[in-house]
Amino acid sequence: EFIEREIEEVLGLTERREKDSELYKIANEVFDRTTKETLAYLHRRGKIESLYGVISTGKEANVFAGIDSEGNRIAVKIYRTYTTEFRRIWEYLAADPRVGYLPKDMRKLVFVWTRREYKNLKRAIKYAVRVPEPIIFRNNVLVMEFIGDELPAPRLKDVERELTKVDFEELYAFTMGVIERLWKRGDMVHGDLSEYNILIHEPPVVIDWSQATVKRNKMSVSLLRRDLRNVINYFARKGVSVDDFEEKFRELIES
Ligand code: ADP
Ligand code: MN
Repeated sequence: EFIEREIEEVLGLTERREKDSELYKIANEVFDRTTKETLAYLHRRGKIESLYGVISTGKEANVFAGIDSEGNRIAVKIYRTYTTEFRRIWEYLAADPRVGYLPKDMRKLVFVWTRREYKNLKRAIKYAVRVPEPIIFRNNVLVMEFIGDELPAPRLKDVERELTKVDFEELYAFTMGVIERLWKRGDMVHGDLSEYNILIHEPPVVIDWSQATVKRNKMSVSLLRRDLRNVINYFARKGVSVDDFEEKFRELIES
């Protein structure tokens, strides 16, 4: 059928790709009808020429490496339309004053979640936080700038063994700068800031903005507390002389 052929094209199956590749297996497992139609649409629009690799498989989303019709590298985050995280997603969205009507059906709720991540990326860029440039979203698919060279950039967690004390000090300053700029200038909090969501690149890049929200959200202070605590604890373990948590937290919420 037409869509199936288009998806084979997106996955490069018409040429080099073998049907037992990891990419094909994962696509087969997680691409439902909506996802296929969405990918076909983005393909026709030239936003996704093809996907050529799996960067990450997660509970909520899978991230693929691809190229657009001009040959630029892209990262494509595809949320599962079927997730056990429905409750958590619903709670996070319900607390966000920017989000209006909340669909009752899971698939549509995931679309709202995807759109919110796109908006968060746009907003973070405005406050000079280095994030992947969002390119387009549709339904459960988010297309963004690929961070990396040949290979995707590693996460801080992946390379921590190779880093020096000075590296950690610089990364700590970078991360605290992000938290402060977001909160004070952007009225925003990331909400899942950790060594798993910082890509080591020049300069480092903060990813995974799906749970980020605005100060007006009644959850924002507890998200800020969590980010701050995770970041301070992590870098303290790496030998950085970190700020005092209580002091920093107070300074931020009183700003
Ligand atoms: P989740 O943690 O919810 O599965 P993330 O947005 O953190 O989703 O993405 C999962 C992984 O995919 C990241 O840890 C990172 O390794 C990779 N990744 C995400 N976005 C990009 C990007 N724009 N460029 C390169 N790699 C990315
Ligand atoms: Mn992540």
